Amino acid sequence: MSGPIPINVSVVHALLFWCVVPVLWGCLFFNKAWCSFLAGAAAVAAVAHVVVGHTGAGDLVFHLGTFALALLVPLLFLRSQRILAREFSRRHCGLQEQKMKVLETHAAVLREKGERLDQLERLQNRFALVQVMATKLEASEILQTLGHMWKKRTGVKGCLILRRQSNGSWGTAFSDGHFNVQDWVRVLASHPSLARSRNIRRTSAPGKQLTLPGQPFGSTCILVPFTWDKDILAIGILEVDPARLDESTDGFNIERKLVSIGLRRADLYDLMTERSRFDALTGAFLRRSFMERLEDGLRKSHRYNTPLYFALMDIDNFKSLNDRWGHLAGDKVLIALAAAVRKLSHPGITLGRFGGDEFALIFEMETVQDVVAWFERLRQFLGENSARDRDTVLRFTVSAGVSAYLPERPPVSELMAQADRALYQSKRAGRDRLLLWQGPGPAAALGKK
Ligand code: GH3
Ligand code: MG
Repeated sequence: MSGPIPINVSVVHALLFWCVVPVLWGCLFFNKAWCSFLAGAAAVAAVAHVVVGHTGAGDLVFHLGTFALALLVPLLFLRSQRILAREFSRRHCGLQEQKMKVLETHAAVLREKGERLDQLERLQNRFALVQVMATKLEASEILQTLGHMWKKRTGVKGCLILRRQSNGSWGTAFSDGHFNVQDWVRVLASHPSLARSRNIRRTSAPGKQLTLPGQPFGSTCILVPFTWDKDILAIGILEVDPARLDESTDGFNIERKLVSIGLRRADLYDLMTERSRFDALTGAFLRRSFMERLEDGLRKSHRYNTPLYFALMDIDNFKSLNDRWGHLAGDKVLIALAAAVRKLSHPGITLGRFGGDEFALIFEMETVQDVVAWFERLRQFLGENSARDRDTVLRFTVSAGVSAYLPERPPVSELMAQADRALYQSKRAGRDRLLLWQGPGPAAALGKK
């Protein structure tokens, strides 16, 4: 077709064009069936209009070109959109990957932080344990610290620490209330191999080895012995979560060794304390610790105005008893005298050995008559219960001198000197008696003779 396009053709064309294009766009973007249908119908109408109305090849090419353009623009747009979307998703994936990496690093950092905090807490606890061992000499304090430390540990459900007593029995050093102590004492008594084991023992499901108290199915009991040479000093009993066994038992061996050393040191300290305080032969207080008690008693008497009497007591003719029966027999007499005092024990009486056959006594009694009455009972007891060395009956008597702290309140040296003078006087007066110091004149005879 040549020449200008007729107006009616242009109008139809424009109408179709403006009708088809948005429909095509809608079809492409929204992908709806009715959009495709409308687009197809409009395209068919346009082609029919061109074919029927205007058969010129130029016209046809012009119209088809216009429609092709109308189609191409949204296709190109769509393609660019797809490229953009692909680029976006590629970048998005990259960002996601980076985000995942950052998250993983963050989680690893948090994990490491948690582990470090755990390690720090463990170190702090261990340091607290070492600190207790360096500053405290009592086994109970060391075991209490350890018990509290174990209790807080991950996976530990219950904790009990039993301490071996000098008589071989078990005493509770720490308990969080999870176990019944008596149950465990019974288990250790009925399974000596368990109580003697020097290695950490793990006992799992009940019935396999032992039926252990406080151990429900799926739990694990750990027995941690604290040893020195062949001795078991204490046993720690823990119930732990089997799934967290490693966490709960981490470092047990170090703690076990540390605490064993602490317990051994505490035992040695107790032994030294006892040896420095008590006379090995008679069990009476040695002079230094006796004097500490006397000073305490005098302070109390001075402050509260409560009566206090001090006495020196000496075995009569002990030298000849030694000479006649031997020193071993003499030792038996010393032991028998201290045992008699203990037998007639009274809360207000303290016995000390000053050396040789000389003993000192503190009487925190109301009146001197109380002191006299007690001494008379002692004399009577010694008369009826002689010491024995094999078949030999060792009869002996004692003399004593007493001084009163009130009302004069003399210094301790003077109080002792007065008792010593009274003792000397009772020896001179014929022995086997108690005399009270009443000034430079003759001492008052108090005991019955
Ligand atoms: P008196 O009645 O005047 O006290 O006479 P005595 O013979 O008891 O004299 P004295 O108290 O001075 O005797 C002390 C003796 O005690 C001297 C010593 O041989 C003896 N002796 C000291 N310590 C011990 C000891 O641990 N065991 C024994 N068997 N004898 C001891
Ligand atoms: Mg004597």
